[in-house]
Amino acid sequence: MDAAVTTTPAVLILLGPPGAGKGTQARMLEDQFGLVQLSTGDLLRAAVAAGTEAGRKAKAVMEAGDLVSDEIVIAILRDRMAEPDCAKGVILDGFPRTTVQAAALDELLSANGQKIDAAISLEVEDSEMVTRISGRYTCGNCGEGYHDNFKQPAKDGVCDKCGGTEMKRRADDNAETVASRLQSYHAQTAPLIAYYEGKGVLKKIDAMGQIDEIARALSTIVKGAMD
Ligand code: AMP
Repeated sequence: MDAAVTTTPAVLILLGPPGAGKGTQARMLEDQFGLVQLSTGDLLRAAVAAGTEAGRKAKAVMEAGDLVSDEIVIAILRDRMAEPDCAKGVILDGFPRTTVQAAALDELLSANGQKIDAAISLEVEDSEMVTRISGRYTCGNCGEGYHDNFKQPAKDGVCDKCGGTEMKRRADDNAETVASRLQSYHAQTAPLIAYYEGKGVLKKIDAMGQIDEIARALSTIVKGAMD
């Protein structure tokens, strides 16, 4: 009889500025590889909507386009990672965003006997960001992402994925907030590219092209990293 094969859950990180397509690509990887997308932005928005203590603290910070405190975000991420579905492997979308968060993730993974399979940086120019962000919206029911110029549903106002008809735009997807979000990215998150390069897990993707082309490039990297 074959010896039992135990695999540790995959851990992928998507790095990149706001609007780089992390959420869109993470959802495609979720479907393709059976992984779980973990977006700290989504978790924080849910906390704000639910009016939890963390949500109340995070609300104004998010509206200003600044980063929520490491303490709050790390606690939210740690709780979510402990849920059973994460045993399938995770795609971290929007976390870590600071060196403190990266160190906390390293600690959490090593305590669980896990490692980072790949940190993939989606590379885009700042000039592209405002156009991308200002046109985007999501299905209020299933979270599928759309864009006024780049990705419209087959039937106007109806989600291709679940048939939902309530589309939502994020409160922080406006020109002023985007400028602070980009600033936070360059000051606090971009240094993580060198951090993961130093660990030998960094991959870079040109994310200026079409969604499908980027998805193909990403899928090749993920297949390689999970082998
Ligand atoms: P996102 O959906 O990833 O664009 O995140 C939306 C907002 O949530 C950000 O502009 C931050 O205010 C906050 N946020 C999300 N993830 C983090 C994180 N890892 N660290 C700090 N703030 C975060």
